[in-house]
Amino acid sequence: MNPASRVLVIAGSDTSGGAGLQRDLGVVERLGCRHASVVTALTAQTDNAVAEVFIPPPEIIAAQLAAAFSSGPIAAIKIGMLGNAPTLEAVADGLGVQTGAPLVLDPVLASSSGQILLDEPGRRALKIRLLPLCTLLTPNLEEAALLTDQPLAVSAPAIQDQANRLLAMGAKAVLIKGGHGTGEEATDWLVQANAKPLPLPAQRLQAHMRGTGCALSSAIAARLAHGDTLEAACRRAKTIVHAMIAAHSTNPPSHS
Ligand code: PLP
Repeated sequence: MNPASRVLVIAGSDTSGGAGLQRDLGVVERLGCRHASVVTALTAQTDNAVAEVFIPPPEIIAAQLAAAFSSGPIAAIKIGMLGNAPTLEAVADGLGVQTGAPLVLDPVLASSSGQILLDEPGRRALKIRLLPLCTLLTPNLEEAALLTDQPLAVSAPAIQDQANRLLAMGAKAVLIKGGHGTGEEATDWLVQANAKPLPLPAQRLQAHMRGTGCALSSAIAARLAHGDTLEAACRRAKTIVHAMIAAHSTNPPSHS
C-alpha cells in the first residue's frame, strides 16, 4: 500500500454499515489506499429507517479535521453527509487553509428511506462554501434537481443543463449519476467546463444495495489519490461500483 495514497473521508457514521463512513472506508481500503476520517454525524439506523442523528458541535469537527491533516499527507478528500450548516462551515473553514488535494463532494441531502441528512440552511451553505472548493460534485438526479431548483431531469440535455448550472455555481466538474433514472441503461454524465459532456453508460442492475453513491465518490477519491485523471478515476470507480452492485443483483449475468 503506498503511504502517499491517503484519502481523507469526511462523512457520517451509518450503524447498519450499508452507507456513510463505513461504506466509504471499506471502499477506500479495497482500492489500496490508507485513510483518515472526520465523523460529521452519528446515526442510529437500519437498512429501512434512520432512528436518531446526533451531530457533534463544530469545535469537534474542526478538531478532527486539524488532527487528520496533521497526521500525514492527504492525497484526496471525499465529503459525504454533513448534517447541518455549522458542521459544513467548520469543514469549509478547515479545508480552506489546507492542501490542494482533489476534493470529491457527494451532496448527501436525504437517505433513500426519506430522512433529511442536510438541513435547508446546510443546503444553502453547501452551494456557497463547498461547491467552489470541490474538484468533482457527484449528485444523483434528485440532488442535482434540488441544488439547481429545477424539475427532475429526464433527458440528456436536461441533465447537461443542470450540470452546467452547478459548474456556474463553482464546481470544477460534475458527475450526475443516472442510477435513480429509468431505462435499461444507467448513464452517468461527466461534465467539465471547456469539454464535451461525457456519457458513462452501464447496464441498469436490479439490486437492493445501499450506499452506492457513497461507494462511487469514495472510489473516485481513491483513484485520484493513486494519480488517475478525473475521467479515468470516474471510469474505473464506476466499473468497481458496478461490480459491487452486480454481486447484490438479481439481473441475469451479462455476456457483453
Ligand atoms: N446514512 C449516512 C450516514 C449516509 O452518509 C448516507 C448516504 O450517504 C445514508 C445514510 C443514506 O444512504 P442510502 O441513501 O443508501 O440509504
